[in-house]
Amino acid sequence: MSKILAITNQKGGVGKTTTGVNLAASLAAAHKRVLLVDLDPQGNATMGSGVDKRNLALTIYPVLLGDRTLAEVLQHSVNGDYDVIPANRELAGAEVEMVDLERREMRLKEALATVEASYDFILIDCPPALNLLTVNGLTAAHAVMIPMQCEYYALEGLSDLVQTIKKVRTHLNPGLQIEGLLRTMYDPRNTLAQQVSAQLEQHFGDKVYRTVIPRNIRLAEAPSYGLPALKFDRNSKGAQAYIDLAGEMLGRDVPAA
Ligand code: ATP
Ligand code: MG
Repeated sequence: MSKILAITNQKGGVGKTTTGVNLAASLAAAHKRVLLVDLDPQGNATMGSGVDKRNLALTIYPVLLGDRTLAEVLQHSVNGDYDVIPANRELAGAEVEMVDLERREMRLKEALATVEASYDFILIDCPPALNLLTVNGLTAAHAVMIPMQCEYYALEGLSDLVQTIKKVRTHLNPGLQIEGLLRTMYDPRNTLAQQVSAQLEQHFGDKVYRTVIPRNIRLAEAPSYGLPALKFDRNSKGAQAYIDLAGEMLGRDVPAA
């Protein structure tokens, strides 16, 4: 059975897309069949996967409106060795156009049901907002992965997200779990980051991934070449951290003997 993960944090620029692209590539390198769904009109996961968002005839947008099937819009990331459902700015219109549609929160879930059997992991890169697109991501997912920077306001932002997750659980997706919190852009020399990191572990215990993603310039450079970091500079600390994260996730998923 596939595992569907929504990568979510309404705070912008915390490393959601970097995590989506690099985790997809790392799981693919571990011989898993992976689909990365770009659910953000910014289209960064699409570009970061080496798929040019400017030259796309079809994206996730007509799928959410019910005009196309997921299979019709599917692309393959040659660079990352995984499949991609691309997005671009036209998705910004979906929020308004979906409001009057029936089952508007279930659109992605219903679309993914048609391809789910072909994948071990489906990763959904959500936009930086708690909007209808993100609700579609949370409704379609088995669990949520929350990338976060260890900053002063990080914990405050988390409580809004946890409230949204609870609402989605009550009304739309009773099985939704929190898969894990991922510390991103971590600088171990920063005392505040150390303190927030320790607080996170206190509050969330083993929901915090042991793998920490360091601040690493290679992770920031790779997307401009349309490459995941492990194809850009495999030995970089950033690429290695995402390989470790994939290993931690796969280890967690091994059933007890
Ligand atoms: P948005 O909310 O806009 O979708 P996001 O949460 O998806 O943003 P990213 O786009 O992944 O965040 O990252 C924000 C910026 O930080 C990007 O320029 C990215 O290249 C850079 N970045 C992400 N992770 C790291 C890291 N570990 N080290 C250095 N730079 C990073
Ligand atoms: Mg993003």
